[in-house]
Amino acid sequence: MKDFDVIVIGAGITGAGVFRDLALHGVSCLLLDKGDFTASTSQSSSKMLHGGIRYLENFDFELVQEALHEKNLWLKLLPHLAKEVPFVLPNYKESKYPLFMLKIGLLAYDFLSGFQNSPHKILGKNETIKQRPLLSTKNLRGSGLYYDALMDDAKITLEVIYDALKEQNAFAMNYHEVTNVVEEGSKHIVQTKNLIKNTEDTFIAKKIIYCLGPYTDKFLKNTYPNNWTPQLLPSKGSHIWVSKEDFNLSDPCVINHKDGRVIFFIPHETQILIGTTEEPLNEEINDIKISQKEITYLLSIIKEYYPKVNIKQHQIESAYSGVRPLIKSNLTNDQGKTARTHRTYQISNSVQAIAGGKYTTFRVMAQESVGIVCEQLGVSYSKSKTIKKLRQKSCVIPFERKQIDSSTIKQILSNEMPKTLEDLVHRRIGVNSLSQWKSIYPENDFNNFFLENIELINQYFPLKKEEIINYFKD
Ligand SMILES: Cc1cc2nc3c(=O)[nH]c(=O)nc-3n(C[C@H](O)[C@H](O)[C@H](O)COP(=O)(O)OP(=O)(O)OC[C@H]3O[C@@H](n4cnc5c(N)ncnc54)[C@H](O)[C@@H]3O)c2cc1C
Repeated sequence: MKDFDVIVIGAGITGAGVFRDLALHGVSCLLLDKGDFTASTSQSSSKMLHGGIRYLENFDFELVQEALHEKNLWLKLLPHLAKEVPFVLPNYKESKYPLFMLKIGLLAYDFLSGFQNSPHKILGKNETIKQRPLLSTKNLRGSGLYYDALMDDAKITLEVIYDALKEQNAFAMNYHEVTNVVEEGSKHIVQTKNLIKNTEDTFIAKKIIYCLGPYTDKFLKNTYPNNWTPQLLPSKGSHIWVSKEDFNLSDPCVINHKDGRVIFFIPHETQILIGTTEEPLNEEINDIKISQKEITYLLSIIKEYYPKVNIKQHQIESAYSGVRPLIKSNLTNDQGKTARTHRTYQISNSVQAIAGGKYTTFRVMAQESVGIVCEQLGVSYSKSKTIKKLRQKSCVIPFERKQIDSSTIKQILSNEMPKTLEDLVHRRIGVNSLSQWKSIYPENDFNNFFLENIELINQYFPLKKEEIINYFKD
């Protein structure tokens, strides 16, 4: 099928959310991405569903309230991919706000959640040390303990897409780069390049919705030079993963550093996630990686707040960077203060773009846009259609890890559309480094495991032995 009511371009969480909303309303739709689904910003977040406690400082109450609602909704709908955890926010003599202000902030946070958050507590110095024994005690006054959720960002996007694909009217293709979109009468001709097979294709749609995240300005300025002025203030953020064997942190902490940055320390399956930095973007989005400056900064923060933990650069198991697609604000150029609200742009009667926002709010971000399209197509729209459980669980669920074997690989290959070894290892199995692989699957030598399964994999996509052997070397 090549003719659709709507083509959604960009399969990060924003595009996935729009695609699912359309599919559940019976609209025929196609989702296209130039890479693997979720392989850009939507696998590079801090992996939290959260209201964003720091946005309270900017009085973004509406955004915080909306995000808290969504967080608590997804905790119920997706318990295998999102978990509520207690964050400790330590308060030091040099902190920007005194402890009583923290209390007011956390009270507001719980209030804005409609008291759906597990309730916060204020901890004195001794209780803070008891709860987080590795934290620096120098000038410590106490802390606030509040609840947010950690999540698997790549898996949620994938499961949102799998859910939409349960509808007969919905189709999705990864590795299909959109090279041009031309309006002809009441139709849009979407030209694509299949980056795996190196072939070209054409699809037709009545409506287009762009969900290009940080790629929005570049693509839309090229495609609609007269109708698009750049909207984004792209901001780079990087994280590092450190083994729990080197950093024995059992519960999350969040540091409000005196330089204005908020740094999270979050224990996941076998590793601690530490980030993020916030830097202007000086490189091509496709090529971003953590800089030495960012590594040095994150290591210095560990040293300052966890003086008993001695992490050196060679102990970083892996790192990743993403670009926040923030919407420019007239009020500030400070990326940290730029609001995380999203915007929907009507480029023409049949073309929309959504940009900005947060991962946490993807469901509500889709509503405005899909509501307009449904009205134009004469389909009745209901916001509550998307409040239901997703229908296809991932074959491998990192929060409920089991051993894997050939039958797991077969299930992934036949149900989850991986097209490269990285899709399979990084996003479907959810492993980011060889050391992580070894600690999760000690019985399966990485090279042997994939070499033994190469024939099976080759039934679905081409894979050479050298790619397996070099996978973690690149
Ligand atoms: C460091 C960092 C930490 C964050 N932490 C959090 C957090 O903890 N919680 C939270 O709620 N939010 C967080 N965010 C924000 C959140 O991750 C983003 O708002 C969200 O992932 C953006 O999703 P998106 O779908 O709009 O963009 P993307 O995920 O970037 O998707 C855009 C897609 O468009 C595709 N594309 C581009 N050009 C083309 C083309 N020509 N043809 C086809 N496809 C194309 C790309 O390949 C890409 O997959 C964080 C962001 C960053 C950078």
